[in-house]
Amino acid sequence: MNLPGCDDLPPGTLTVEEALERIRTEVDKVQGEERVAIRDALDRVLAEDITAPMDVPPHRNSAMDGYALRADDLPESGEASLTVIGKSFAGTPFEGRVDPGQCVRIMTGAVVPDDTDTVVMQEQVRPDHDRIILSPGHQRGQNIRNPGEDMKRGEPILLQGRLLNAADIGLIASLGIAEVSVVRRPRVVFFSTGDELRGIGEILEQGDIYDSNRYTLHALLSRMNVEMIDQGVIPDDHNAIRAAFKNAAEVGDMVITSGGVSVGEADFVKQTLDEMGEIGFWKIAMKPGKPLAFGQLGKAWFFGLPGNPVSVMATFMLFVRPALQIMQGTRVAAPLSLRATLASDIRKTPGRKDYQRGILNKTTDGSLTVTTTGLQGSHVLSSMSKANCFIVLPRESGGVPRGETIEVIPFMGMI
Ligand code: AMP
Ligand code: MG
Repeated sequence: MNLPGCDDLPPGTLTVEEALERIRTEVDKVQGEERVAIRDALDRVLAEDITAPMDVPPHRNSAMDGYALRADDLPESGEASLTVIGKSFAGTPFEGRVDPGQCVRIMTGAVVPDDTDTVVMQEQVRPDHDRIILSPGHQRGQNIRNPGEDMKRGEPILLQGRLLNAADIGLIASLGIAEVSVVRRPRVVFFSTGDELRGIGEILEQGDIYDSNRYTLHALLSRMNVEMIDQGVIPDDHNAIRAAFKNAAEVGDMVITSGGVSVGEADFVKQTLDEMGEIGFWKIAMKPGKPLAFGQLGKAWFFGLPGNPVSVMATFMLFVRPALQIMQGTRVAAPLSLRATLASDIRKTPGRKDYQRGILNKTTDGSLTVTTTGLQGSHVLSSMSKANCFIVLPRESGGVPRGETIEVIPFMGMI
């Protein structure tokens, strides 16, 4: 296959897949763990295996409101009449004996009395003073939840590396465990570079813009459960960048910068990384986000993201996110990829893998369609804000006409 722009990547340029593979092989889990209360454990990564210290449910209990009885008393034909001798409520068990011909009023979750083995729903009996009348059609053992049905004592329940979700937190609580060991939060230092960047509240002189990347990064990082250290805006000055790198390397497990990674005269980030650390790669055949410096700065992993706001988001989602997942010791979850019908024409030249901003819709017949958000420049941050997915176009692909089926990656919790 000799597709234009495909077999002729310039030296030092990696495909998205190659870049990801490099990140996967090089980046490591951070050392250190801490114990946290389970309320604080959501979205943290387990640093220990959790084994059930008890059965859940701990006791045999009723799945229904009804009557607990002996299966031998169930009628095979005709009707049976049983005496109700007591009650078993959730939290207040019935303590006595249940003899043949007797039954106990029981509520959902209440302990099933020892002598009984079957529960009949209250809707399926006819009360008659202190007795109930039963018809045939019931099964021995029905409506009973056995101890350990959910989790068995001694069984491994959640393993180290698990990214804890809401269900997991509840599960741990149901085992009576109050605290868990989780992987320490990676410390991420980040800053913007650029002489043109002003802080919100400052006056913009001719040529100035507000620094938005630091806010976007702060928001993206907030979703990743890391400790953040914001180093502000650093001017395009080699010494200032050196000083910022030095500070960042001292505290960070990861350093993220934006801007200054291309080949312009004021682009000192790559140079400084070369000088003070180690460059892994810095050109990726993707759009947006071609120049990207990945490497090491002291003990920290370094990501020099491009300056353009859309490129910052795309490279964060594609590369920084998985790197952070590895550092947290959890499985790198490839983003969900779907197929959708293109509802508008797309322009593209072959050569780079394109992540256009799209709006994914479900039509009334249940199929998925996608349109682009319009202008696709990497400076057009509103395209990210309007979008709910990336439209992924392979490197070799040119423009795609409407009606074609293409790959989309929904943002879903990523931005
Ligand atoms: P650079 O990679 O430094 O050449 O920047 C590329 C483009 O992104 C330029 O138009 C910059 O003005 C813009 N840019 C760089 N950093 C930021 C930032 N922190 N916020 C908004 N735009 C930025
Ligand atoms: Mg710049």
